[in-house]
Amino acid sequence: MDVPDQKCGSLKEVAHLFHCDLFDTEIVHKIGQILLLGLSTACVDNTSGDLFKSPASVAVDIRKEMVDYLTQRSETFIAESLIEQGSPYMITSEHPVDIVSDLIDDFASSKQNLFSRVSGWLLSEKREDKIDDFVQEMEFRSFWLMERRLSIGQTLLKYLDPKNEFHCKMNFGSAEDLSCHTNACSFRPISCTNVGCRASFSSVHMEKHDSLCPFKILPCEQKCSESITRREMDRHCITVCPMRLVNCPFYHVGCQSSIPHTTTEQHCSEFLEPHLLCILRLIHKEAAMDDLKCRVEQLLKVVFPTHVCDLYCGCLSSRERNSKSLRDEGKALIELSSVDQLCEAQCVRSLTRIVKDLDAKIGPLDKYSPGTASEECNNTADVPQHVADKTMSKVQSTSESISTLEDLKEETSLQHHID
Ligand SMILES: [Zn+2]
Ligand SMILES: [Zn+2]
Ligand SMILES: [Zn+2]
Ligand SMILES: [Zn+2]
Repeated sequence: MDVPDQKCGSLKEVAHLFHCDLFDTEIVHKIGQILLLGLSTACVDNTSGDLFKSPASVAVDIRKEMVDYLTQRSETFIAESLIEQGSPYMITSEHPVDIVSDLIDDFASSKQNLFSRVSGWLLSEKREDKIDDFVQEMEFRSFWLMERRLSIGQTLLKYLDPKNEFHCKMNFGSAEDLSCHTNACSFRPISCTNVGCRASFSSVHMEKHDSLCPFKILPCEQKCSESITRREMDRHCITVCPMRLVNCPFYHVGCQSSIPHTTTEQHCSEFLEPHLLCILRLIHKEAAMDDLKCRVEQLLKVVFPTHVCDLYCGCLSSRERNSKSLRDEGKALIELSSVDQLCEAQCVRSLTRIVKDLDAKIGPLDKYSPGTASEECNNTADVPQHVADKTMSKVQSTSESISTLEDLKEETSLQHHID
């Protein structure tokens, strides 16, 4: 498709060639922007301290001079660089936008009047403001339309991009061939297809844009099941993602684990023993660690015999026995003391409440010396007799033992029946 370099052909042949004029829209747009800023700088520095001239009064002339200067310098820039640096590889490190920017600076410096050079004006904040103001004024008055600046940018780019990284170099023998190419040219302008994104760019940048597009929908970075736009990702990961890291609910009493929020339940059940130890340390502040560890094992072995429930229900009148809520409460009494129930207590308050309750039933901590304690600990899962005894007696003080029933409305009448 690519025909031989046009310089090989005669002038006549060149005239018949069909060139692809597509270019990197982003780069040309950047050049278009710095052209206006450069013009403003040159006009402001040329008239600062002058009572008879304003930047606007010199803008037309300076613009013409600037365009001529940039075109001429760009034309010869690559050749000059080659001679100066002696190596063609140096050029590729220079981005066309940077080169144009340097050339504009050179031009603007040449336009500084005496006042600008000697008065400290160049370093003043007022200068920056004045340059910005004049840029806005020119935009407001449509003094130098972007469209025209883009066309100058294209011309400069052709000179400053000898490796065709930012503009297309393809030539064709017929309009059909050219049109065929245009539909596939890597510099053809395209628009982002992500919902909500209005960006347009040369096709060659599709991948780059896609990798940065704020509207691109991505799977959650923390690997939850959700997909979120890139711009929403951080917020999602910090606020609502089920996989966000949170402190263990028992952080303040000593468990330093950071866990994905969604695995809190699993952590609480896997770390039940360390958590129990934390709670016991609060309850028995003076106790030895060995005693506390032993108490943890005891707590995990305590299971109320099922007849406690029957007994509990038996204390109720038939009307109350038929009451679903009261039957459930009887059930709650049993579940309350199981390991499952301990696992379900996923905050310091609820676990402390349950542990305190069970702890009181088992009896004083100091009763167990390390020797007897281990004996107790090695016991089977059966409830020690004194625990069972205590359990039975505790049933009679419902308000103390059934902490989940604290706000039970019928508490008083229940107490009455049990008594
Ligand atoms: Zn092309
Ligand atoms: Zn986009
Ligand atoms: Zn997530
Ligand atoms: Zn923990």
